[in-house]
Amino acid sequence: MSINQSGWRPTSPEANTGNVPASITGNKALMLEEALIFEIGDGETTGVDFDTFGSPANAGAQGTKDSDHGPGFLRSQENKLGGLLRTAPIGLPGLSEPETVRHYTRLSRQNYGIDLGFFPLGSCTMKHNPRLNEKMARLPGFSDVHPLQPVDTVQGALEVIHQLAHWLVTLTGMTSVAMSPKAGAHGELCGILAIRAALEAKGEGARKIILVPESAHGTNPATAAFAGYSVEDIPATAEGRVDTAALKARLGPDVAGVMITNPNTCGLFERDMREISDAVHAAGGFVYCDGANFNAIVGRVRPGDLGIDAMHINLHKTFSTPHGGGGPGSGPVVFSEALTPYAPLPFVENQDGQFVLVEEETAGEHHAGSFGRMVAFHGQMGMFTRALTYILSHGADGLRQVSEDAVLNANYILRSLDDTLDAPFGPSGPCMHEALFSDSGLAAGFSTIDIAKGLIDEGFHPMTMYFPLVVHGAMLVEPTETESKAALDQFIAALRSVAERAKAGDPSLKTAPHFAPRARLDETLAARKPVLVWKDPAPLAQAAE
Ligand SMILES: *Cc1c(COP(=O)(O)O)cnc(C)c1O
Repeated sequence: MSINQSGWRPTSPEANTGNVPASITGNKALMLEEALIFEIGDGETTGVDFDTFGSPANAGAQGTKDSDHGPGFLRSQENKLGGLLRTAPIGLPGLSEPETVRHYTRLSRQNYGIDLGFFPLGSCTMKHNPRLNEKMARLPGFSDVHPLQPVDTVQGALEVIHQLAHWLVTLTGMTSVAMSPKAGAHGELCGILAIRAALEAKGEGARKIILVPESAHGTNPATAAFAGYSVEDIPATAEGRVDTAALKARLGPDVAGVMITNPNTCGLFERDMREISDAVHAAGGFVYCDGANFNAIVGRVRPGDLGIDAMHINLHKTFSTPHGGGGPGSGPVVFSEALTPYAPLPFVENQDGQFVLVEEETAGEHHAGSFGRMVAFHGQMGMFTRALTYILSHGADGLRQVSEDAVLNANYILRSLDDTLDAPFGPSGPCMHEALFSDSGLAAGFSTIDIAKGLIDEGFHPMTMYFPLVVHGAMLVEPTETESKAALDQFIAALRSVAERAKAGDPSLKTAPHFAPRARLDETLAARKPVLVWKDPAPLAQAAE
């Protein structure tokens, strides 16, 4: 393959299939092939005319002061940058505006998203984001505010935070909420820091163990370790739940607390939660619940009734706001009465009709022992606005229906496919919001990855693979509540067909996907030796394919 001057790659003869030659552009009808921006742009082209930086020509130009752009300015910048001023061209590719727009639009057409089709990723709740959320989040009074603005100019924004806090506390049956954490994992850290502050205040800072069941999300042990605790595993039972007896047997004066994901990552509700909480409290510890799966129980179960002391809520999962590709997220943490004094700052308070941002360490009675701050400012305003819009537009009955429909859809998938795929916890009864299958029964040499790649050819984003770890070759499917029966039936038919090919050992499945812009990549090589810096077109052609 070579790259010619204007950037497109003439296709190689091997790309010809059957009697139909491949197009010389590499395009497949209106599905357009696209080179890297470095291949189509060059250092000479630009869509914008910039003055030459620091050139004598504009040093005295009309309307510019000498000191703005001239040699004096350059010298002052040099001083500020401590000798790090760039001396060579930056090497960015230049493109005209229409070329730039086309480049990114073409790339976006090779991407798959929740607005294109069904996105069955389990453990991540990729749900529809109603457009009303976006309309509200874009109101200038929410989108154009600055965190350092005087509070009397942002009363509406503070009221949104205050109202959302009220509904989160109401929906969870807890005492207070910290709004500032910026994702689920950040919320976990917030909860564990509050637990640590509470233990230290009681003179029990020597408790150094956090118990984490096998069925917990991977961020749980990572959080506990990051906060300086030693993590001990608690086994799962054969039916995919926490082994309550084993957990109780391990409690003692060295245990700071437990972190339990409920519903857990096997898609099951931890039925013994109340019993576990009582036992942990009796042993002097605290209960952290990973609430990322709140989508399955919102409106039906209040974590406060289960004896939980702290739980994060992923606004970007349960309350619909978009996420993916690393952000943005928002992970408010709700607290029990016992942990409320140690919750982080800041929080919003309504003082006689005025919304006030309480930022002082010596804050009111509720935050007397606050452990400090999680973030510089107040949290993710855009996510708050979307989540509150979602809550208010659904109402109490709507939120309950969301969780009921999410659970119904997951069970429909589980029961429609458990004759074809192995469902290890199928016999345990109904699942919650996600259905879990294993790779048991596939032909020798075939695994979950082949099913995932086959699904791509059928036009579906693959489900979550090889997680949770308690199941071999796990496939975790979360349909969410907004998928219609027709969409679920199409997905079920596709997954059934691909699974049957994997069971029959169809060799063409080993090289799927065949219809995607790129065939099967060497993912191990891509992960182990990622090529992140563009150098030269010739070696690049082999980099990822
Ligand atoms: C998504 C998720 C997390 C982590 O949340 P982030 O917002 O991605 O940091 C933690 N636990 C569970 C069960 C999750 O699904």
